[in-house]
Amino acid sequence: MLTHILFCELWGNWDSDKLHRMKRVFIETYGCQMNVYDTELIKSILGAAHYDVVTSEHQADVVMLNTCSVRENANRKVHLRIQELRRNRPQHSIAIGVLGCMATNFKTALLEDPQLGIDFIAGPDSYKQLPQLIENAWQGGSDRFDVTLSEFETYSDIEPTRDSAVNAWVAIMRGCNNFCTFCVVPYTRGRERSRTIESVSDEVKRLVDQGFKQVTLLGQNVNSYRSDAHDFTDLMDAVSQIDGLERVRFTSPHPKDFPNRLLSLMAERETICKQIHLPLQAGNSRVLSKMNRTYTKEEFLSLVERIRSLIPKVALSTDIIVGFPTETHDEFLDTLDVVQQVQFDSAYIFKYSERPNTVAARRFPDDVSEADKTARIVQLNECQRNISLSKNKACIGSNERVLIEALSTKKSELDCQGRTDSNRIVILPLQADVTLGQMRQVRIVDATPNVLKGEWV
Ligand code: SF4
Repeated sequence: MLTHILFCELWGNWDSDKLHRMKRVFIETYGCQMNVYDTELIKSILGAAHYDVVTSEHQADVVMLNTCSVRENANRKVHLRIQELRRNRPQHSIAIGVLGCMATNFKTALLEDPQLGIDFIAGPDSYKQLPQLIENAWQGGSDRFDVTLSEFETYSDIEPTRDSAVNAWVAIMRGCNNFCTFCVVPYTRGRERSRTIESVSDEVKRLVDQGFKQVTLLGQNVNSYRSDAHDFTDLMDAVSQIDGLERVRFTSPHPKDFPNRLLSLMAERETICKQIHLPLQAGNSRVLSKMNRTYTKEEFLSLVERIRSLIPKVALSTDIIVGFPTETHDEFLDTLDVVQQVQFDSAYIFKYSERPNTVAARRFPDDVSEADKTARIVQLNECQRNISLSKNKACIGSNERVLIEALSTKKSELDCQGRTDSNRIVILPLQADVTLGQMRQVRIVDATPNVLKGEWV
C-alpha cells in the first residue's frame, strides 16, 4: 500500500506525453554470467514489445536493475543505486524496476521499504511478463510484481540480444537442486530444468551462421543437464560437432557430475576447450559437509587426478569461500593444502558473507571474525597468485591458438586481446589485419599472474 501511494505521488507529476512515450528502457546488470545472459533475454522480450533499450539512464523512462543475491556486496550496491536513482527522480522522472535474484529473495522487504520506492518487480522466471508489469506500473495498478518460480520456463523460444560478436553464451538449463547451505540460488531461481538437445543445437547453428566462433554453455549446474534420456555428455557431443563452430566451453559444473564418458569426449573432441571450472568452495571435509557440497577433500582430489589422467593438459580454475561458519584455522589449512596440491590455473576466492534465507544464515552463526577471514583470504590469494604466475610463465615460448575478443585493452588502444583454449587472456600488439573473432597463432613472450603477452607468428 505504501509503495502504491509513493508510486502515485511520483508518477502523478508526469504529463500524458511523457507517459505516452514511455518506451525507453535502461538495464543495469549485477552478479553472475546468468544475469548477464538474462539481460540479453530481457532486451529481446522488450524489443518485441516495442521498447527501446538505451545505453544511459539519462535517456531512459524506465530503469531496471537486474540484481544478484549471492554476495552481500552486490546487495549493498543495488540498494545504494536505487537510492541514487530516486534522489535524481525530481529532475528526471523514471520508473524503477528490480529484477533477478534480489527480487525473489527480498520481495516483501523491497516493496515495503519507503526509501526505495520501487515501481515493479520481476523474478528470473517472470521476464516474459515484463511488458505487462511495466504497463501496470504505468497505469498505477497494483499488479506490478511477479516472482513466481516456474518448473518449466527455459526461455528456449527467446533469442537473446547478444552484446558480443565473438563468444555467445547459451543457457542450456536453469535453476539448481543442490541446496549448498551458503547459496540462495535454489530459492531464487527454482528447480533444475533443461532445454532439449535440438533446441540448444539449433540455436548454436544459428549463432555459427551469424559468425560466432565460440559458444559457452551456461547453467547454474551445467553438468546436471538432463533432457529425456540425454545427459550433458550427449549435449556436448552434439554441440561440439556443429560445422563451423571453433570452440565450445561450459560453466559452471558441480564436481559430483563428471563421468569418464564426458571427460573422454572432452579429451578427444578438438572443438571442446580443455578447460574446466571446478568449484572447490572448501578443502576440509567437515566444512564441505556443512556446506552440503556432497564430496570430501579426498574425493575432490581424486576427481582432479581422474580429470588429469584423461585430459592431461586441462586447465583448472575454481571458486573458494574462506571463513565459512565454524571453519577453524586448521580446517582452512586443508583448503590451502588442496590449492597447493591441485595447482589451479586460477581461482576466485571470497570471504563468507551471510546471505538471508539460506540454510547457513538460519542455522550457522557467522562466527569467524572479519580479521580471521581477511588473514585467510590474503594467505590464499598470495598462494594462488604464485601458482598462477608460475603456470603462466611455463607458457612462455609456446605457440597458442588465440581467439581475438577485443581490439583494445583496458590499458591501451594500441593492444588487442584474445583467449587461449585454456581460457588464458593474451595481450597482443594491434595490427591493421586483426579483426574480432579471428583465430590466430601467437607466440607467448611474457606472463603475469593474470595475463599472457604474445607476438604474432
Ligand atoms: S550448486 Fe550450490 S553454489 Fe551452485 S547454484 Fe546450486 S546451490 Fe548454489
